[in-house]
Order: sequence, then structure tokens, then C-alpha cells
Amino acid sequence: MIPVTKPFLPPKSEYQVYLDGIWERNWQTNNGPLVNKLEQSLKGYLGMEHLLYTGNGTIAIQIAIKALELKGEIITTPFSYVATTSSIVWEGCKPVFVDIDPSTCNIDPQKIEAAITPHTSAILATHVYGIPCDVEAIDRIATKHNLKVIYDGAHAFGVRVNGKSIFSYGDISTTSFHATKVFHTIEGGGVFTSQPELLQKMAFLRNFGHDGPERFNGVGINGKNSEFHAAMGLTNLPHLPAILQKRREQSEFYKSLLSSLPITYPATSQIEGYNYCYFPIIFRSESALLQSKSALEDQNIGCRRYFYPGLNTLDYTGGACPVSDEISTRVLCLPLYHSLTKEEQERVGEVLVLAYESIKGKDVLKKT
Ligand SMILES: *Cc1c(COP(=O)(O)O)cnc(C)c1O
Repeated sequence: MIPVTKPFLPPKSEYQVYLDGIWERNWQTNNGPLVNKLEQSLKGYLGMEHLLYTGNGTIAIQIAIKALELKGEIITTPFSYVATTSSIVWEGCKPVFVDIDPSTCNIDPQKIEAAITPHTSAILATHVYGIPCDVEAIDRIATKHNLKVIYDGAHAFGVRVNGKSIFSYGDISTTSFHATKVFHTIEGGGVFTSQPELLQKMAFLRNFGHDGPERFNGVGINGKNSEFHAAMGLTNLPHLPAILQKRREQSEFYKSLLSSLPITYPATSQIEGYNYCYFPIIFRSESALLQSKSALEDQNIGCRRYFYPGLNTLDYTGGACPVSDEISTRVLCLPLYHSLTKEEQERVGEVLVLAYESIKGKDVLKKT
């Protein structure tokens, strides 16, 4: 069995060191020393001045929406994980989907202005697969129309744009440290902003609005995270360079194994600090994808239609996004995780090449 993903686990003895400290202090949650240490370490790693560590990446988006007091319509991408859209709906706003650029799979800035109405309050875009959105174009549009910008950077840990962390863009950027992400704390997330008032507001929102034991500042939520989760982050962080190096090699190896297939890839080659968080391949047709997928599954190889179906097709109310609709039917993510071996990758490659042999000459060559 080759799963599509397998969370990284550090040597147990390294985690144990942090557990010993937790037992000594009996300080398990509520802004403890390991949470503080993780926040400091991540700020150093990313070169960011401000970061609040949260319970997960979804509550991070919700805190961002609350902090900016967004109302009405939020322009967003149909091509992301469901949490991007469900957070908008959960916060009582209406998602308005704008189609994607087929080369990056990110929201297409050229289509944003047509979707702006008097009710639009913000743009919430995802750096999908860790590929940066066109942050400069989005910023220009937001400034012109007086809109706030949130970036869902759940896939984008470590990525840089113009030499700066991608998390420095937008009014607020969020990320996820879920176990399946490149850098993880089992569950976890973060919010980033360079605006001190927003940071303070999000700090209150994250902790029930507590401003001391007896005073409250606004209506908060429990968006905190625990010492045990922070400990996993602190244990994993020193392994990150090796993890990124491995993922890069694995991605390049896949490309060489699959070089004879009529598939394409989202554009990742020019990205600073690219993190190889997924290995998406784009088939020429949905039927080629479906046949390849069942060939993989017959051999007990996991794969995932990330992202399918498009979020604009769920119950949230639609918005036509033909490019996203079309790409989402043809994209498949292959297994990618730290302990995946070259031999396993070769098996994945062989199954895909064989599957293609059997469908060659049929619909796979018909460009859709
Ligand atoms: C993983 C993910 C989230 C949610 O993060 P959690 O930490 O699982 O809550 C949000 N957006 C995207 C794009 C994601 O991939």
C-alpha cells in the first residue's frame, strides 16, 4: 500500500524531551512557553515580525475575517480546499467565485474587477499548491476599490515573493500546520499581519476576548493551541530543510519517470523557496484521469483528486468558473511524503505509463 500522503513523524526521543518539560511545568495550554517558543522560532525561520499560532488553519481564516469585520460579499477562488469557502459562509458572508488562471490554478486577477459590487468587502485568495497568487495585481485592485485582502497560505509555508515571505502579503495571511502539510504541528495554524492593531485584535479574538482575567475585549473564540502541538512543531522544524530537499528530489524524479506521458503541471519552476507540497498532474481528459486513477487504486496506490469538485459547484451558491470546472476534472495528486522511496515512486510511474499504453489512441489524445 502506498498512501497519497503520510504525515512526517520525528524521532520519538526528540519529542520526548519536550514532553518531559511539559510534565515538569504542568503547563499544558493557554499561551505556554512552548507556544511562545514556537512562535519565535517560526518568525525567525520565515523572517516575519508577527505571527499568532492558532488551533488550526480554518479557525485562522475565521479569525482573519472577524478581525477585518468583513460583511457582504467576499471574492474568492473556486479551486482550493473547502475550508477556504466554508469559513466565509460560517462568518455570515457570501462567497463570490472568480475563475482561475489555468497556468497557476490561482484566482485570475484580470477577472476580479468584473465581480466587484457595492457589497464586496474583501478578496480571499489561496496560494494553491504553494504557487503564489499574483499578489501585486490583487493588491492594486484591492487598493483601488478599497477592499481588504486575506491570503489562505495553507500550502505556502516557506515560499517567498520578491525576497519576502509570502505571508507578508495581504492585510492578513493565514496558514495551516495540519499533519498533512509540509511543516506540521499535528493540528495547528497561524495568522500573520504587519498591522499592530489587527494583530492585537486577533490576539483577543484567539483567546475568548480575554483582556486579563476579568476584562473582555470584544467577542472572541477559542483559537488557541496547546503545548503538545507546539512541541511537535519545535521538534519538526529542524527537520524541515531535509524534508524540503527530499520533496524536491522526489518531485524531480516523478517528472523524469512520467516524461513520456501527455500530462502537464501547474507552473512551479520560478518560485522562490518552493516547498513541493503536492505533486499534481493534469491529464488531457477526465477519462484519462479516471482510468489512470483506477489503475493506481488497483495496485493499492493512493491518489487524490485535489481539488475536485470545484467549490463553486457546492451548495454555497455558484458563479460560473469554466476554467476551474474544467481543470478540476483533470487534476490528480500523486503520493508524496518524506518516507516515500524511489522504488515506490518507480512503481507509481510504471502503473501510470502502463495505464497510458492501454488508453493511448483513445480519448486521451483528444484534446478536451
Ligand atoms: C489544509 C487547508 C486548510 C485548513 O487547514 P486546517 O489546519 O486543516 O484547518 C485551509 N485551506 C487550505 C487551502 C488547506 O489546504
